[in-house]
Amino acid sequence: MNSSIKNGEPILKLRGVGKHYGNLKVIKGVDLDIYPSEVVCLIGPSGSGKSTLLRSMAFLEQYDEGEVYIEGVLLGWKPGSPRRLASRSQLNDARRNVGMVFQQFNLWPHMSVLGNVIEALLQVRKLSQAEARAKGLAMLDKVGLAHKADAYPALLSGGQQQRVAIARALAMEPHIMLFDEPTSALDPELVGEVLQVMKSLAADGMTMVVVTHEMGFAAQVADRVAFLDQGKIAVCSSPQKIFHDNEHPRLQQFLQNYLDRNAFWQDKKEEHIA
Ligand code: ADP
Ligand code: MG
Repeated sequence: MNSSIKNGEPILKLRGVGKHYGNLKVIKGVDLDIYPSEVVCLIGPSGSGKSTLLRSMAFLEQYDEGEVYIEGVLLGWKPGSPRRLASRSQLNDARRNVGMVFQQFNLWPHMSVLGNVIEALLQVRKLSQAEARAKGLAMLDKVGLAHKADAYPALLSGGQQQRVAIARALAMEPHIMLFDEPTSALDPELVGEVLQVMKSLAADGMTMVVVTHEMGFAAQVADRVAFLDQGKIAVCSSPQKIFHDNEHPRLQQFLQNYLDRNAFWQDKKEEHIA
């Protein structure tokens, strides 16, 4: 699937990426390489720049410094040289290989589930109705929702809607999938089914960058975990090192806060049951 990149080359490469809003520097010189079939989880406190960084990777956000390459294609411009944007068609091609899933599923309410999944196949890929339907159904099958093809999104649970959003992104045959807190808007009991779909994607060899607060998922599924702190990748390492053997005070604090918060909610739940 990733035939357009040479063996051993990263599918996504960031060099010195920076971004500011007015005087506020949000991303400060980020370097990152993501290799084919790798799963990299991005963790960090709220406001540390995770979403901005992820959006820069897909060029949904125009970064101010550095370089982002997708499969060797520079998205944006080289600092120092005359500001040279990738051509519109290069940009579109590169972007087309990047799938995104957000916290909000943003399905069209007036279209069926299948209609949502095949819309871009019809409008962007220009597939025939029959081809698009076949592909759409196959993608819905992947996320376990082929039986909901004709339902309208409002009748689905949040977890099911997010799985449709994943199928919609997969339908475009992306070479890399970027997830921005895909389970944060869900009721706790619906989180597992979405994580399960993401796990099976990872097992199929999909290259993934996942911003998440689900530390269990990161520990289990990620090849590497990057801790973003105040716009910088402070640590990027194996889950084992990140969760059990890190010497970074701010990461330790972040993980401790996470554990405290979870323990708090666990206590609440037990009080409620008792
Ligand atoms: P995270 O996803 O880690 O919570 P974000 O990338 O959303 O962090 O935000 C990083 C910082 O950038 C925050 O301080 C946020 O307030 C600021 N920010 C994000 N988007 C904008 C914007 N469009 N305009 C101004 N400031 C922004
Ligand atoms: Mg965010």
